[in-house]
Amino acid sequence: MIQLHGVAKRYGPTVALHPTDLAVGRGDVLALLGTSGSGKSTLLRAVLRLVVPDAGMVAVDGVEVTDATALEVRRRAGYVIQGGGLFPHLTARGNAGLLPRHLGWSDARLDARLAELAELARLAPDTLGRFPAELSGGQRQRVALLRALVLSPDVLLLDEPLGALDPVTRDGLQRDLAGIVADLGTTVLLVTHDLREAAVLADRVAVMDGGRIVQRGRLEEIADAPATPFVEAFVEAQRYALP
Ligand code: ADP
Ligand code: MG
Repeated sequence: MIQLHGVAKRYGPTVALHPTDLAVGRGDVLALLGTSGSGKSTLLRAVLRLVVPDAGMVAVDGVEVTDATALEVRRRAGYVIQGGGLFPHLTARGNAGLLPRHLGWSDARLDARLAELAELARLAPDTLGRFPAELSGGQRQRVALLRALVLSPDVLLLDEPLGALDPVTRDGLQRDLAGIVADLGTTVLLVTHDLREAAVLADRVAVMDGGRIVQRGRLEEIADAPATPFVEAFVEAQRYALP
């Protein structure tokens, strides 16, 4: 479970995040929606303390995220960013195996885990030996997902994980990701500006505008009764994408 109480962040005169409360229950999938610059990544990164909040408290599965606990929390979390963020000089296997190797896993254990995850993420086994430049965008995101899942994380933080993909590739991976998340029962915080992605993946959504969560609930509720003119415009611009 992920909890934020009064978490705030500013950069000089820019308020990236006003004091914000949020809770994602164990096994729930919450999508943070909003336009670019609304504070979505700041909120997500604050969970891993990649952004150190100016105020407030973050907890993951009951552990308060502080300087002292940040590494432990990151180790129990999977994090996927747009484009995958893979190391170009490492193969897919090298990327996905980085942390397990650091923890002293044997080759056999790593290979068994990667084979299992490759099947789950529908990634052909031969792609594991390739470098990121030798993979398609969709394959790179699948490898990034493997890397995020390899240590069986309790929480998954996804920051526009499918944002850099073409619509066809994105649709396929969206459906696969929904299946994976449902199978694993992981707690997920997903950042997206794509209503369809939220519809496919999320139980609940929170819409951000100007560093604040301006509405939260089920996507249908928000689409039917937008709380602010911004939410209304945001929904209208993508109404075609709603189920
Ligand atoms: P989103 O992910 O919704 O696009 P961000 O959380 O990345 O938004 O950014 C929110 C605001 O904070 C934006 O105005 C952005 O320019 C600003 N911001 C984010 N990170 C930094 C940083 N490291 N330094 C200065 N300003 C930042
Ligand atoms: Mg962002």
